[in-house]
Amino acid sequence: MKNNSVLYKNFDEIFLDEIETDYSSISEKVSQEDERVFINDDEKIKVIANHFKGIMQALGLDLNDDSLKGTPQRVAKMYVKEFFSGLNPVNEPKITLFENKYQYNKMVVEKDITLYSYCEHHFVPIIGKVHVAYISKGKVIGLSKINRLVQYYAKRPQVQERLTNQIAKALRKALGTEDVAVVIDAVHLCVASRGIKDTGSSTITVQYSGKFINEETKHEFLELIK
Ligand SMILES: [Zn+2]
Repeated sequence: MKNNSVLYKNFDEIFLDEIETDYSSISEKVSQEDERVFINDDEKIKVIANHFKGIMQALGLDLNDDSLKGTPQRVAKMYVKEFFSGLNPVNEPKITLFENKYQYNKMVVEKDITLYSYCEHHFVPIIGKVHVAYISKGKVIGLSKINRLVQYYAKRPQVQERLTNQIAKALRKALGTEDVAVVIDAVHLCVASRGIKDTGSSTITVQYSGKFINEETKHEFLELIK
């Protein structure tokens, strides 16, 4: 108990002395401009590292331990540069389109795109596959760009339904066609590893528009991604 009170005292000090100061200065900036544009990555990493240090101390972890002392900085960097890099518009992929000179007018399917996203309710991974299809209106997209686009929206705290819609919308816009389909099949670790602890279930979300609303086209797509 005695140790705990020392711990919490330190924790308070951290919040008051380091975190609140940093946080309020950022809050001011946020109210002036778009948060995601204005706060640069280095500033974000600094604030998150301080907060994460507080979390670790509240959990009773010894931050003087060699193995742990770099963790707040590591986690903060991982959040900003990797897990949540899709919150920074600078990382939005530039989409280049090519003329569809082969007159290929059937669907193009990009299947089994690896998905690592993060549930915004628990901040734990959503792991799965994304399948995308479109029918060209005269332009085709570089295939790797579809993957990049998926990753951009995945690298945010997400809910699967919104992620599905965001990918579909971005593709419709980039390709200038409504004929787009997106299917996501994913396991949520907040369901698999905690709470209900159901390791066998996955969540499937779909978004069909344009020609993919047609039963035959939809069926063809679903057969191809089986
Ligand atoms: Zn969750």
